[in-house]
Amino acid sequence: MQRRRDEYIDVLRVLVDVDSGTFAPEGVNAVADVCEDRFGGAGWNVERRPHQPEDGEDQLGDLLIGRIGDAGPRVLMIAHMDTVFPAGTARERPFSIDGDRAFGPGVCDMKSGLLAGLFAVDLLLEAGALPCSITYVCNPDEEIGSTFSKPAIQELSKVTDVALVLEPARGGGELVTARKGVTDLRIEVTGRAAHAGVEPHRGASAVLEAAHKVIELHELNGQWPGVTVNAGVVSGGTRPNVVAERCSIHVDIRAPNEASLQAVEEAALRIVAGSVVPGTTAEARMAANHRPMERTEATGRLLELAREGRTCHVDLAACDDLDSSALQILLAFRRACEGRGGRVAFAGAQGRVARLLQWFGLDGGLGRNASGRQASQPPASPRLATEG
Ligand SMILES: [Zn+2]
Repeated sequence: MQRRRDEYIDVLRVLVDVDSGTFAPEGVNAVADVCEDRFGGAGWNVERRPHQPEDGEDQLGDLLIGRIGDAGPRVLMIAHMDTVFPAGTARERPFSIDGDRAFGPGVCDMKSGLLAGLFAVDLLLEAGALPCSITYVCNPDEEIGSTFSKPAIQELSKVTDVALVLEPARGGGELVTARKGVTDLRIEVTGRAAHAGVEPHRGASAVLEAAHKVIELHELNGQWPGVTVNAGVVSGGTRPNVVAERCSIHVDIRAPNEASLQAVEEAALRIVAGSVVPGTTAEARMAANHRPMERTEATGRLLELAREGRTCHVDLAACDDLDSSALQILLAFRRACEGRGGRVAFAGAQGRVARLLQWFGLDGGLGRNASGRQASQPPASPRLATEG
């Protein structure tokens, strides 16, 4: 349906051409304005919660929650409005389309998904009565671990049957039904400063200690299946002729399940606690945790429902020939809501948190590469692939 596609691309262009890095609240709120308008136009109830930072905290954008429908299974949709890109990126490489690929900062992760969710529900509404109730959370802070929005999402997921996270699909449109847990570990090593030429024996090098720790941390790679540890950022010292008093290490830890994540976290903390260079100490801070999302039987069932939806051309007159991500999401809803296989509930890390089929309409390719762009594989169907 060309009209819908054109409209989708027009709005996507507006969203992508706004810099909405997590710490650019004006930009995130400009994205929220566009979403709020669309919610309003389609008859959603909209709640907008401003972020009130504590002392010393950065100001974040608003949390936007749309609600529509009051019967049937309860569907929670989640998409984030923030990106990882610094101010000025949108001007440097604004939104563009080349054939069936869209480019631009955050187009893939995840402005196209954010918008696809809105279009999916529009189509569902056009097709008649909503077969479910939908709560759509547009959060401003996913890229820093949803520090502001997490409590709200956890509350909402307690009263949810199906949750759909509209993050990018893997290349080729593969759905994500399991996800590694991520732990952000910051280590501060403290030593003792001294002149390196005159009295080196009085010093204790934090940089040398950090080097030992980095090697030990990297030796954790592969000790449990699928576990990865990367000391991605190290900074320390002041001058070449001064024994370094301080050094910080920023580490990314990932594991496929809770047991191995806990095991690697404990091993990393033991490395922090030990010291090789006499006179040095270290402190650790673990933050921005995403616990692992393990594949559950219920997720498997939801995946089956979604797969059926993929191959089935539904009878929705309004979107007969629309082979878009929005339709794919819609089909999943429809299948899930028809009750085939019954209610789908998931036991997640928070108890009865309904989680999750991570899904997105648009192919997102192979992940962010070093330059911050996203590589993409050619889409298998006339769908739109995204890069950026
Ligand atoms: Zn994302």
